[in-house]
This record gives sequence, structure tokens and C-alpha cells, in this order.
Amino acid sequence: MKLLANVMEQVTKRNPNETEFHQAVREVLESLEPVAEKHPEWLKANIFSRFVEPERQIIFRVAWVDDNGEVQVNRGFRIQFSSAIGPYKGGIRLHPSVNASIIKFLGFEQILKNSLTGLPIGGGKGGSDFDPKGKSDGEVMRFCQSFMVELSKHIGADTDVPAGDIGVGGREIGYLYGMYKRLRNEFTGVLTGKGLEYGGSLARTEATGYGLCYFMDEALKAKGKSFNGAIVTVSGSGNVAIYAAQKVRQLGGKVVAMSDSNGYIYDPAGINVETIQILKEVERQRISKYVEFHPGATYQEGCAGIWNVKCDIALPCATQNELDEEAAKTLIANGCYAVGEGANMPTTAEAANLFIENKVVFGPAKAANAGGVATSALEMSQNSMRYSWSFEEVDAKLKDIMVNIYNNASEAAKEYGVEDNLVVGANIAGFIKVANAMYAQGIAY
Ligand code: NDP
Repeated sequence: MKLLANVMEQVTKRNPNETEFHQAVREVLESLEPVAEKHPEWLKANIFSRFVEPERQIIFRVAWVDDNGEVQVNRGFRIQFSSAIGPYKGGIRLHPSVNASIIKFLGFEQILKNSLTGLPIGGGKGGSDFDPKGKSDGEVMRFCQSFMVELSKHIGADTDVPAGDIGVGGREIGYLYGMYKRLRNEFTGVLTGKGLEYGGSLARTEATGYGLCYFMDEALKAKGKSFNGAIVTVSGSGNVAIYAAQKVRQLGGKVVAMSDSNGYIYDPAGINVETIQILKEVERQRISKYVEFHPGATYQEGCAGIWNVKCDIALPCATQNELDEEAAKTLIANGCYAVGEGANMPTTAEAANLFIENKVVFGPAKAANAGGVATSALEMSQNSMRYSWSFEEVDAKLKDIMVNIYNNASEAAKEYGVEDNLVVGANIAGFIKVANAMYAQGIAY
């Protein structure tokens, strides 16, 4: 890095020990060097330093009472990173690993992802170190209500619109929305991922996984390949993984392995996604149970082992940094020719570089998994209109959006002399719109 080295230095100094945040910013700034060269006016207006500093960071205490009557304390976060092109928008993550670094990296990535969708949404992210695993519905509800008491002071349909992420699905969104409505006495589209009965959008549940496959399908087509007949591994077994696996099958591919944070299953006959849905969405079980229903399948402890399974296409859909350099080497040696990031930053920087050097078709998260937030923005539109589109209408819009994202990222890569590098292409294509908006709005913040 030359022109932007001082920006990176400032980020590490100002946010000590926030390694995930540094990792995400470094990758983006490295891609943006040629943009900085081309736009001295943005350097002069210090757009790059402003871009990496969140507009607002809210950290708050969340106290709640567990089923034994004991008082528990968690920490809540909402990072309102950028409102340059629309209201802050991004999910809420509930996982014990949540800290300021993780929420900041996610919020930062969200700015570019949201910009790439072509829709008017800014970037934000939130969450808590609360662990929903093993908690009763009542405990999850009391936590969500307490979380919303504080969060409600900072969000609104035209200000900041949170959604789900790891640990936040339909149940949690329902509890959060109910509390918001009670506090504000208004029925507005302040959260997305809502139930269909109270303002949710058809196809939102499927959107991230389906969108990932639409994006990868386009990227594969450009190389004369497709999902049809391909052997695919999908890590994770949550919202993104399940619907990615479902779409792979619809596109003619065979998913042979899936995982959760304990281990992975391998089913050479092709994983039965309906079984996974029942185990994970309905019964909240571990993935190891799958083998009880499908005796041809095997279970191995340790989720990282999934990358040893031979495949043509790998879709990491669980969590950040789950696919490292060693795993990348194994995948390449096994003939894997495409990797699509369903999760946020699931691939380490070293692994991503290896894929690109080895001409593996690589779909970076901020482009490849943007279908979820794009459909959330469509939910916001439907809420504003007080109208609902059919599943087919939303799915068709989602597909168009994903094809456009691929085209924009691919064209930006070409324009900046790094053809096929969708990481750089997505960073540049997403950034230019945000930078133009920031520049036009002056130095207000
Ligand atoms: P879910 O909570 O529905 O599922 C997460 C899955 O990942 C579970 O199978 C979980 O296993 C596994 N997992 C979680 N933490 C780890 C870990 N440390 N190591 C290995 N596996 C882990 O989340 P989502 O499917 O919604 O999100 C998955 C990823 O996709 C995240 O990175 C999220 O930010 C990203 N994403 C999600 C979007 C959405 O619309 N939902 C939109 C865009 C990105 P277990 O059950 O054992 O915890």
C-alpha cells in the first residue's frame, strides 16, 4: 500500500487488538489504491479516512433474568458505520464470540455490500455476546426485549434497520419487533426478516443462500462451467447454508457435505436438505443426528475437516475465517474450481489469495452473499408501500440484482486491470458509489 498506508496505520492505532476489523479494512484499502490514484480530490477530502471510521458506535449493557431467576449481564453493540447512501442497514449477531472488532468488521463490509446491491441502504451491524444455544424460548425472549429497550433509542425505519445474522432468525426478530412496537407504538418496517404475518417478505428466508448460487452460477457461466453435475460442499447448516444447499440441488448440483460448529456430515448420495431443515430449523439439534436417518452418511467431529472432502465447488456458509490457507491448498489439490463465500469473510486473506492465484473462481462475500440484504431492502420497500410481492416476483428481482452485482464487480476488475479478480472488483464497484455520495454531501461528518 502506498497512498493509503497512513489510513491503515491510523485504523490499527485507533482500534488496537481488533484483528478482524484490521483484516477487513486492509483487504479493502489494498484494492482501493488504484482508485485513490485516479481520484486526488477524494484524497484531498480525506474520504478514505472518513470511510474507515464509523459514524457512530453504541455499546450497552443488556441485563435479563434467566429461568432460574438469576440476573445475567451481556454486552450489546450497534455500529452505525455509514449513512452515505441510505439508512444504516445490517444484521444483529448473537454469539459468544461477538466483540467490537467482529461487529466493526461486519459493519464495514456491509457498507460495500449494500452499495453493490444498487439499492439505497447504508451500512451497520449489531449484536451481543449472548449465546442463544441451550436457552429456553422465554430466556431468548427476555434477552431480546432487554436488548431492544436500548436499541430502540437508536433505530427507525428511516434511520437504521437491523435484521438477522448468526443466532438471530425468525423467532428472535419476532421478539425484537414486538418490543419495539410496544415501546414506540408504531407499526413500521424497523426490522427486516419479519414473519410473513407482520410485514415480512416472501423469499427473505431463502435470499442469502439462493443469491449466493445465482451469483456463483453467473461467475461459473463466464468460465464455461455450471452447478449442473457438480459435487459441492457447504459449510454450516444455518439459514445461509440450508438455502444455498437447496438451490444447488435445484441447479443440478449435488451437496455431499455440511457442518455445524461441532463437526461435519458426508453423504455421498447427496445430502437430504429436508432432514437438515427439520433438525436445525425445527428441532434445533446437532448435525450429527443426520446419520441416524441416513445410514449411508458419516459424521466426523471437527468442523474444519469438511474442507478435506473432495469437491468441485465449495461454499463456506458458517462464519469468519473458517477456511484457512491449509484448507485452501487441500481444496485446490482436490480439484476444486470455484469457491463462493456465503458467510462473511469465511476465507482468510492468505486462502483467498491462493484461490485467485490458482484461477479458482472466487466469489467474495460482500458480492456473493448480498442477496440477503438486497431482499431486506425489498422488504423495506414493500413495508413502505404497505404491499407484498409474490415469491416469484421477489425471487426474480433477487436474481436480477445478483447478476448485476456480478457484472459490476467483473467490469470494475477489468477496468482496473485485474480481470477475474472479483475481490478487487467488488471492493471498487461498491466503494465508488459511496465515495461519490460522501464527496457530494460535503464534510458534514
Ligand atoms: P445461523 O445462525 O443460521 O447459522 C450459522 C451456522 O454456522 C450454524 O450451522 C453454526 O453452527 C455455524 N457456526 C457458527 N459459528 C461457528 C464457528 N465458530 N465455527 C463453525 N461453525 C460455526 O447463521 P446464518 O446462516 O444466518 O449466517 C451464517 C454466515 O452468513 C454468517 O457469517 C453471517 O454473517 C453470514 N450472512 C448471513 C446472512 C443472512 O441473511 N442470514 C446475510 C449475509 C451474510 P452451530 O449451530 O453449531 O452454532
